Amino acid sequence: MVTPARPRVVLVQPRLGMPWVFDSAAEAGFDLVIVPRPGEDLTDLPAPVVDVLDLDLDDPEAAIGGLRRAFARRPFQGIATFFEAAVPFTARAAAALGLPGLPVAVAEAVRDKGAMRRAWTAAGLNSPRFTTVASPRQWSAALDLRFPVVVKPANGFSSIAVSKVDDPAHLELAVVATWDLTRRQLGGIDAVVVEEFLTGPEYAVEAVGHRGETRICTIGYKGEPQGPYFEEGFYQAPADLPADTVAAIEHEVAAALAAIGVTDGPSHTELRLVDGRPYVLETGARIGGSGVSSYLTQATVGVDLVADALRIAVGAAPHSHLAPVTPRGAAGNYIVPCGGQGVIADIDGLDAVAAHPDVDHVVQMLHPGDRVRPYPDFSGYPAFVLSRHAEVKDAMAFHEQLPGMVRISYEGQER
Ligand code: ADP
Ligand code: CA
Repeated sequence: MVTPARPRVVLVQPRLGMPWVFDSAAEAGFDLVIVPRPGEDLTDLPAPVVDVLDLDLDDPEAAIGGLRRAFARRPFQGIATFFEAAVPFTARAAAALGLPGLPVAVAEAVRDKGAMRRAWTAAGLNSPRFTTVASPRQWSAALDLRFPVVVKPANGFSSIAVSKVDDPAHLELAVVATWDLTRRQLGGIDAVVVEEFLTGPEYAVEAVGHRGETRICTIGYKGEPQGPYFEEGFYQAPADLPADTVAAIEHEVAAALAAIGVTDGPSHTELRLVDGRPYVLETGARIGGSGVSSYLTQATVGVDLVADALRIAVGAAPHSHLAPVTPRGAAGNYIVPCGGQGVIADIDGLDAVAAHPDVDHVVQMLHPGDRVRPYPDFSGYPAFVLSRHAEVKDAMAFHEQLPGMVRISYEGQER
């Protein structure tokens, strides 16, 4: 297929509130056809969006039929997603239409924490001891592990239904709770993974694969979450790490991606350092945070993950592989904590945060009237605050100020 001057890419379930994602696509010369998330406000679509395809991804066969008809009317050159839940559908659609994409089996494996653990253990990578249980009745299979353990759905994301269990006496209840909550929230569950708790600081790694070569773009610090639930917090990049630790992380992440078969496209990998050694928690075959990681990578090393993801989606070479990545600054993402539960009455302080000179974007996702269910349930992030700094210590200092600047109040609560 000859690639036209402005290739068209179908972008599956993007977050429309992330303007830099669409700016990157436009600047890199792509037209986008979007498949919106259910209930999304489609007024004022950003410039590179030339068409909207309303498809029900809960019926993948029918959705692929819809894509085929759209393709017949006007061909597109690629299909991509930055949304974790849509990774397998996107791979299936690419295969059905003969477009570049991850093998379907790989896209399914990266949505399965049990499959990832098995692949990494088989490849000799650092891994906590773990067990998968295929029914809540089998919870006792995990009693051999050293406690504390983490109980999580094999198919989860956003820390939904993830909890730490300190004592074997509480294991059964935790497995049953994870099972029930995941079935309700994600519409299905095949397995729960129970694994030993890894004590140590947490990092996220943004990478771009091209024909099996992995380019690590940036490593960010995510604090040292202790649980029992794992509400997403902050991300500060580039992490302040000694060169030998950076090298160990790069090596482990590249090996983890190779072992699971993520040879092409952006990836977002999370790990903890245990006594200085990287243990991968999970990887996603997509840009982190539905596009947040592209902002961070652009600010820290000048790599545009969105542009590279779209290039790879149409079978072109990613720019991040043309030259070694070079540091150019620091950046942060701060996730405003829910700080309570119930119906949101007011979110105070976001305007002042947006006006801060270091802040480029505030992406607000929850609003007054929305109902917040506390972790381990999940009803969305209140807001992301994306900021750019000279050095990572400035991002850290800024994140320390933010809890005092934003406040969410709930109906029925004293104000
Ligand atoms: P999700 O896909 O829901 O984000 P993760 O496997 O990333 O699931 O788990 C969410 C969070 O829970 C992680 O970011 C980490 O803080 C914590 N966590 C998960 N597994 C472990 C583990 N084995 N040891 C320590 N912390 C863990
Ligand atoms: Ca995660």
